[in-house]
Amino acid sequence: MRFDVLTLFPDLFRPHLEQGITRRAFESHQVDVHLWPLRDFADDNYRRVDDRPYGGGPGMVLLAEPLQRALAAVRDARGGTPGPLVHFTPTGRRLDQALVREFAEGSGAILLCGRYEGIDQRFLDRHVDLEVSLGDFVLSGGELAALALLDAVARLQPGVLGDAQSHAQDSFSDGLLDCPHYSRPERLGSGADAQPVPAVLLSGHHAEIARWRRERALELTARRRPDLIAAARAAGALGAADERFLASLGL
Ligand code: SAM
Repeated sequence: MRFDVLTLFPDLFRPHLEQGITRRAFESHQVDVHLWPLRDFADDNYRRVDDRPYGGGPGMVLLAEPLQRALAAVRDARGGTPGPLVHFTPTGRRLDQALVREFAEGSGAILLCGRYEGIDQRFLDRHVDLEVSLGDFVLSGGELAALALLDAVARLQPGVLGDAQSHAQDSFSDGLLDCPHYSRPERLGSGADAQPVPAVLLSGHHAEIARWRRERALELTARRRPDLIAAARAAGALGAADERFLASLGL
């Protein structure tokens, strides 16, 4: 799949694409990322791509015309590869794992990173297919949101994670939050304050370990995100044993 990123700050992307486990997806071009510096599409010697807002007020607005030229160049380079134009903005649809999965199974997209006060609305009205928000807070630019999407998509690609089961156990994969995880030592600290690993994890009983993990995930989800439990119920994803366990907690 191919992602084209329209940004004022391409250098913000490079370190991330070259490090960590997801770099496998980028280096192998399973997730093929092309960076398009917006200033390359300015039409003056100052490489200017922003100007003051009509109507006055603070800040600057990204100009429509350089963006039109950039988009035409990207569409040309993508040839026949389709891909929606995704604009990152706090006013968009909240990014979640369901949307990440849609992208991970698609052929890619063009990612538009805003800066300053935002982008001339006329460009957005005419060209954008989807607006995506990272959450209810305001960043300085769309680059971190684009990187979040690229990272989440990359780790879902076959062969990227060491263990193919890893992301199947992650939060949201089966509609629940993930269970807690433990590693060495078996007892952390000493005396009355020592923190032992839950005994069942040392028991070697795979069925009991799986049940314990499921119950911890159910309990955590019910306490922190009852909306996810309601959605899992509606989707028929909770079994009788799950419901008995939740009822035993009064949840
Ligand atoms: N004036 C805009 C508003 O209040 O909605 C905020 C502009 S923000 C300072 C600059 C750019 O950062 C935006 O154009 C957008 O691309 C990006 N951005 C900021 N917060 C974001 C969020 N929560 N999710 C996705 N992108 C965000």
